[in-house]
Amino acid sequence: MTHEIAVIPGDGIGQEVTPAAVEVLEALEIDFEFVEADAGDAVKAETGEALPQETYDLAASADATLFGAAGETAADVILPLRTAVDSFVNVRPAKAYPGVDAVRPETDLIFLRENTEGVYAGHEDRLTQDVSTLTRVVTESASERLADFACDYVAGDDHDGFSIVHKANVMRETDGLFRDTVKRVADDNGVETDEVLMDAFATRVCLDPEQFDVIVCPNLAGDVLSDLAAGLVGGLGLLPSANIGPDRALFEPVHGTAPDIAGQGVANPAATIISAAMLLEYLGYDEASEDVHEAVEATLEDGPRTPDLGGDASTEDVTKAIIDRL
Ligand code: ATP
Ligand code: MG
Repeated sequence: MTHEIAVIPGDGIGQEVTPAAVEVLEALEIDFEFVEADAGDAVKAETGEALPQETYDLAASADATLFGAAGETAADVILPLRTAVDSFVNVRPAKAYPGVDAVRPETDLIFLRENTEGVYAGHEDRLTQDVSTLTRVVTESASERLADFACDYVAGDDHDGFSIVHKANVMRETDGLFRDTVKRVADDNGVETDEVLMDAFATRVCLDPEQFDVIVCPNLAGDVLSDLAAGLVGGLGLLPSANIGPDRALFEPVHGTAPDIAGQGVANPAATIISAAMLLEYLGYDEASEDVHEAVEATLEDGPRTPDLGGDASTEDVTKAIIDRL
């Protein structure tokens, strides 16, 4: 069966790193059908719309989407695109690579972040000049969906279980429901869990990231703590992410449009190529995925490297080196 892959480069270095990742996927000679579509600042300037309906429809119907980055219009693009794939979990690996400067080179973590609710459910109000409020939404169904995914995730690989990171000692009702639901689903599936309060987690992961492996957390905690972990592995430049839905998924680098280097052909394509490796695994091409991971790791270690990693190679040089290793 041919898989349809939506390709949405967007703005800035999205225009450089997304084609690089597509080149890598093409080199694997898998029967993919790539369909490219516009989103972001440039298309908004042209048409008045940051996310044209045909781009939304494409992401909502393709088997998987590879997205680059969007500039000022990021929120108008990525939030609806996540909805288009009905994404309920954001998978964010934070792994340090040999040959790349990292605060904690031993870091190797996977964040499974709830992607639909929590404080991002959007219920904010201004009650008076003096008082504004935010309603936090946690549902048993969304917590269950995340927990089911987490159980499958740790079953497939060499993981011992997962950590539930929350703040149920203070947010007893909302994080209490989250914690209890995730724990119940894990127990039903025979999956081992431990619990860590999110503030304690922040300290412990900085001091000794090796004590953690897979982390399951509510939306805001996942957002903040995975960025913290990004700092431990040497910044945003190498981090991939996946937004998984029940029937389709969207893959994107964690970094943005990098306006300071856009258009120069020197952006590091690694984060987007690793995102493409996650796409391969999602579609069941485990071996090809592993090959791409290994080719990227070998290239990070031995070069060529882009300027952000201290080298002087171009995006194209690095992409070619990765393809040569495949
Ligand atoms: P945006 O608003 O689109 O997020 P930004 O100015 O926050 O843009 P980021 O893309 O988040 O920029 O990047 C932050 C810094 O990291 C920039 O200095 C950028 O050059 C660098 N950077 C990010 N991604 C890459 C990459 N793939 N290769 C090289 N440098 C990168
Ligand atoms: Mg940014």
